[in-house]
Amino acid sequence: MSVKEDGRAEVLVVGGGPAGFAAALAAGRAGADTLLIERSGRLGGMATLGLVSPLLGCVNSKFVDEILGRLGGREVDHTKLDLDYAQMLAEAGVRTLLHTCAVEPIMSGQTVGGCVAYTKSGHINIESAATIDATGDGDVAYLAGVPFEQGRPGDGLMQPASIMFRVGGVGPSRLLCGSEGEAASMQLPQGTWEQIVEQGIRDGELPDNVGVIRTYATRRPSEVTVNATQVNRINGVSSGDLTKAEIEGRRQAFAVLAFLKRHAPGYKDAFICEMPASIGIRETRRFTGMDYLTRSDVIEGRKRPDAVVRDALFVIDIHNPDGPGQAENFAVECKPYDIPYGCLLPREIDGLLFAGRCISGSHDAHASYRVQTICLAIGAAAGVAAAIAGKQGILPRQVKPNDIWATGLI
Ligand SMILES: Cc1cc2nc3c(=O)[nH]c(=O)nc-3n(C[C@H](O)[C@H](O)[C@H](O)COP(=O)(O)OP(=O)(O)OC[C@H]3O[C@@H](n4cnc5c(N)ncnc54)[C@H](O)[C@@H]3O)c2cc1C
Repeated sequence: MSVKEDGRAEVLVVGGGPAGFAAALAAGRAGADTLLIERSGRLGGMATLGLVSPLLGCVNSKFVDEILGRLGGREVDHTKLDLDYAQMLAEAGVRTLLHTCAVEPIMSGQTVGGCVAYTKSGHINIESAATIDATGDGDVAYLAGVPFEQGRPGDGLMQPASIMFRVGGVGPSRLLCGSEGEAASMQLPQGTWEQIVEQGIRDGELPDNVGVIRTYATRRPSEVTVNATQVNRINGVSSGDLTKAEIEGRRQAFAVLAFLKRHAPGYKDAFICEMPASIGIRETRRFTGMDYLTRSDVIEGRKRPDAVVRDALFVIDIHNPDGPGQAENFAVECKPYDIPYGCLLPREIDGLLFAGRCISGSHDAHASYRVQTICLAIGAAAGVAAAIAGKQGILPRQVKPNDIWATGLI
């Protein structure tokens, strides 16, 4: 492998989604020389690449409150979220490299000391005191040999992949059937929206896997984001499966558009105004850490003395891994729960932290903490921890949660 250019950072963050952005911002604010690398051309992760919105979930974090304030709310402006993130990173002195894909951890025994990354000019070698894996899929942790779980217990099936897309030309009033669910039971001339969708599936107007059609308001009056397509039995870290899902999901999007035009009030002249750069992947690897968040932890709202995220809250939201609609017992209510530092730390590998949806937890717990505000909070904690480790010349596992809070940054 030819190395064209070497680099060094106190903290290396891999992946520029909500977790990686927050990790890099917090590490930069904590005074660490921080480099963020992102394989695509945009910061924002699923929000920009997959058109995912809004930023769901709650968390007791002044860091997250500040970010939501700077973004102007939870509804994502897909056209400029990456620029807003880039601005905040620049203010904190964080260096960012887009189009830079981590391909291999630099290992010294059992310790990660940075990454080799692929660029258009060849491979670059980035050494770091602490590395944060915020790739969603945990590419660095996987290549470093950290053990992981995938999918639900029993058959290992993961939540389905979805093409989120935006529809324009809607109005003057528009059917909105999002997480608020305001229109799901609204009475239309042919029945409720739910009944109309069910009939569409029975009549073959909609693909079998489309069990629910949700439409969310965007910041533009005549536009909605549609969350409806569903490709099941996809392994989101297999190129073959991803290729199949991209094509199948985009085909489904056009079938959903035709259905909306025929049946939804306000959609007669609708058209797809934006397809995502990438299919949305909800779930892949969950790495085994020093600690492990369980279903009962999130349902019962377990508090932890070693918390680095406090009062995280979102339902357990499981899209059916094996068919249309939601899994059985989906949207299980939770109580505000803590995420302990150990969920961000591999058990046997040093120098590395996880951030975002790949942290250590069960299939059910993941279905709650995977939402973006909670990923922001996880990332911020990982960033501060990595900065402390880098500054003090200690391993991330030696950082004390209280010292992370004491910085006042999260
Ligand atoms: C269809 C769908 C709908 C959803 N709906 C919502 C919703 O309404 N609200 C909500 O809050 N959440 C929603 N989610 C969940 C949420 O979007 C994700 O769980 C969240 O974005 C995960 O954040 P992350 O930072 O861990 O990973 P990601 O957002 O996936 O970001 C990971 C980043 O790492 C980069 N990367 C990957 N590998 C490498 C590599 N080797 N080198 C460099 N960079 C790399 C990727 O390009 C990406 O930018 C949804 C998810 C999906 C798929």
